[in-house]
Amino acid sequence: MAFSHVAAMTFERVSRLTSIPRFWRPHALVQMLAMSLSLTLYLTSTLPAAAIGLLRDPDIENGLRELAFPILRAAGLSPNRVKILLVNDGGFNAFVVDHNTIFLNYGLILKVPRADVLQAVIAHEAAHIANGHIQRRISNFQGAQTVANLGVALALIAAAAGGGEAAAGVAAGTQSSALRSFLAHTRAEEASADRSAANYLRLSGISTRGLIDLHRAFAGQDLLTPGNQDPYMRSHPLSRDRIRAAEAFFEAHGDQSLPNANADYWFARIRGKISAFTRAPKWTLLRAGEETHDDIRLMRQAVAHHRNRNLSKALAGINAAIALRPDDPYYYELKGQILLESRRIDAAVDAYGKAVELAPRDPLILAGHGRALLAAKHPKAALEVLEKARARDARDARMMRDLGVAYASTGQNGMASLVTAERYALQGRTEDAELHARRAVGQLPVGSTGWQRAQDVLLASERANKRKR
Ligand SMILES: [Zn+2]
Repeated sequence: MAFSHVAAMTFERVSRLTSIPRFWRPHALVQMLAMSLSLTLYLTSTLPAAAIGLLRDPDIENGLRELAFPILRAAGLSPNRVKILLVNDGGFNAFVVDHNTIFLNYGLILKVPRADVLQAVIAHEAAHIANGHIQRRISNFQGAQTVANLGVALALIAAAAGGGEAAAGVAAGTQSSALRSFLAHTRAEEASADRSAANYLRLSGISTRGLIDLHRAFAGQDLLTPGNQDPYMRSHPLSRDRIRAAEAFFEAHGDQSLPNANADYWFARIRGKISAFTRAPKWTLLRAGEETHDDIRLMRQAVAHHRNRNLSKALAGINAAIALRPDDPYYYELKGQILLESRRIDAAVDAYGKAVELAPRDPLILAGHGRALLAAKHPKAALEVLEKARARDARDARMMRDLGVAYASTGQNGMASLVTAERYALQGRTEDAELHARRAVGQLPVGSTGWQRAQDVLLASERANKRKR
């Protein structure tokens, strides 16, 4: 996973964005920039384009799955289909742009105080999917029909890891009125999403107090000058209305929730890992002692020591965490990362191999294993593992880059061009995508699966680039 590489950058932002969220932008934060066959681009409306990207971490995504599972089931959504992805943004936000993905900023997870508040956020977003609010947008959006068939592509580009500049270029060619209409959730939709969310939480045995506290955190919005408020926020029901509705639900139904040690554990683990990678190591080492779950404390310390380039302490920490949870694939995955980034390549291959044994279908773990095999100069073995990862989840720019290297190292230049084109498309770099897709079309056997994929990227990127010009 790409965490350690963004740590230096994100730390600064986190340290400035402390405690209380200033803006509640459940949906407006994303702008739809371009829609075409397989190139769809989203970007925050208020932040520089460069800020966008996904943090793909198997441990965190697993924890989010654990927290979301009962809610998605209560919403009638398939927990296997709907993924929760972490956006590399320290601000408070959560949003949906298609039926299969809920996006959460890492800043939101650091700022909510308890698991039930995070679950309330997830429930609200799940309700937007389940209540058809997204469907209406996709159907209404001009030219979006093709995209509806490409659910993956939608979120794929939301990843847009590192696609800043190109994304801004595409933005210039897109009609902002169309974007606004895509994103505008009505007051009725907000109220309906809140109502459904409360029901999902109740059905899941989760306290709806989290929903109340979630809204209360935004009550201060009213006190801000209009210039400091998010414009989208102003067009939505005031927080106090939503608090009142949530409180009324709580009064009417009472709180039948039971303490949930599993949810508390995964919440602590997700937050612990995010903060260990985004806060200064010193901060983590000072506070890790407050963590009551021993393995999570050890994991956080291991990450902090690793970021301090203290390999022996990092290994001691992660090994101790593994000793407490010997069947936990994600701790082996972290060990693999620590070793790989410390250039202990053979040991890294072993650690990732163990993680794969324990979680053979996790695409992010497979991607890590492939990366280590590539570093160990086993491109053929790496290629096999990375293709398995890609087949399960292509929204991982780093894996796609490794896959390109693996194809090039094994002399398959057409395929290398194809996955490079797909990676650029994922990152919103449509001109680079067009160039490499054209190259791939020229190199791959006409009519082959790879050739077909290259054609798709070529057509879509041509269309997007034409719009820009
Ligand atoms: Zn909403």
